[in-house]
Amino acid sequence: MTWHLKTLADLKKSIKNKEVSSFELAQYFLSRIKNNQKLNAVIDLDEALSLAQAKAADEALANGKAAALTGLPLVHKDVFVTQGWHSTACSKILQGYQSPFDAHIVERLGHRGAGMVCLGKANMDEFAMGSTNENSYFGPAKNPWNLEKVPGGSSGGSAAAVAAGLIPAATGSDTGGSIRQPASFCGITGIKPTYGRVSRYGMIAYASSLDQAGPMAKTAEDCALLLAHMAGHDARDSTCLAKDVDDYVLGITQVTESSNSQPLKGIRVGLPKEYFGPGLAADVRAAIEAGIKVYESLGATLVEVSLPKTELSIPVYYVIAPAEASSNLSRFDGVRYGHRAKAYKDLLDMYKTSRAEGFGAEVKRRILIGTYVLSHGYYDAYYLKAQKLRRIIAQDFQNAFQVCDVIAGPVAPSVAPTIGSKTADPTQMYLEDIFTLSPNLAGLPAMSHPCGFGADHMPVGMQLIGNYFDETRMLQMAHAFQQVTEWHKKMPEGFSGVAQ
Ligand code: GLN
Repeated sequence: MTWHLKTLADLKKSIKNKEVSSFELAQYFLSRIKNNQKLNAVIDLDEALSLAQAKAADEALANGKAAALTGLPLVHKDVFVTQGWHSTACSKILQGYQSPFDAHIVERLGHRGAGMVCLGKANMDEFAMGSTNENSYFGPAKNPWNLEKVPGGSSGGSAAAVAAGLIPAATGSDTGGSIRQPASFCGITGIKPTYGRVSRYGMIAYASSLDQAGPMAKTAEDCALLLAHMAGHDARDSTCLAKDVDDYVLGITQVTESSNSQPLKGIRVGLPKEYFGPGLAADVRAAIEAGIKVYESLGATLVEVSLPKTELSIPVYYVIAPAEASSNLSRFDGVRYGHRAKAYKDLLDMYKTSRAEGFGAEVKRRILIGTYVLSHGYYDAYYLKAQKLRRIIAQDFQNAFQVCDVIAGPVAPSVAPTIGSKTADPTQMYLEDIFTLSPNLAGLPAMSHPCGFGADHMPVGMQLIGNYFDETRMLQMAHAFQQVTEWHKKMPEGFSGVAQ
């Protein structure tokens, strides 16, 4: 069978129609994960536990006790604490850590919620810091379209696993682009919801005012199915909003069932001129422009908008995110979790040595920057100024939303780079985040869906940025796009399961 070619929505039907059991799906995808370890996409497996969850799902199905997604497999980004598996955020400092509880979204999607079966933990940049997945303690994940290319970061393992058909869906987290950029580089669909839409409880914190969890899958429809269960109030995260959750699945159904050949009629798509400047590679530009024509053919009208502070999003983000990270990561002291140095002189030396051994270079760099910008004497010059600019960046979006409903543009200035090509100079790497950072700074929802291929036949993703809580409209747009294009159906070759 070729279950890996199916979407989550297809598999949901197949389970319902008893064409396949949850147990068979778990075996099938576990075999694909194990047979394609060259991707280094999934870094922690517990087959017995996964198969036990699948068996229980089949029993629930047989007893008429199934929930909405019962029996469907997924992997969780290693940033989400997951009972039964290790939860390390791909850092040595959390090596061997096992959480006594599930993250909110793990709980909501899993056997205590929507019924999905966890097949393992996905590789990522250490503490979600990075854009290439090269900062993982477990080594880089690879891009299934070309093993020499990065899958993007920080949710690189999630994206690579979905793209290669090792799993139909995965969770991701996005602080400055970590769902959208790997989705773009690997040719899959992913959405970062509005800040506060999904609980951060149990998500190992990077920069708390920017972090948001979201789904990654082949299609917008699958993202809608997953987000429906991830979103919603959770009292354990004080920034999680008690606002009703839209019916994302209904939103998708409305597009599919409409006989209207122009389902996007009336939607004004804003094209920020700053997103189409000379920094945008020609191949990416061509794919994005072709994608925008598709929106137009579906009835959308185009308007030029301006996000004048786009360039400043990089310095602003790389002050605020490290500042919050330096505070969040102070809890890793060698006492409470994970790695502790073997040899040390006294308590202070134990903290220092454990942290020196446990954190990787990029994480240390961010802690240093963060501590610096928060320190007395520099706080006003850097941190406070960055916060003021953050407000202006958010205001720029609101000005744009006066004349458009959704903003469209590239996710990243170029296609996935070669592994190792960006590691020498971290600031070069930070510049790659130019189009993804500002939605996080403003707290807006944003997504990526495949819209073509660029140089070296590497995928290109279209970014959609919506106004607060406008996830439904974005998912509808991407879904309408996916009804008339085939990009999301393309899969890289060379990945098979174990002969069964
Ligand atoms: N590349 C950005 C960073 O390194 C964003 C990462 C993310 O969204 N987690 O911080």
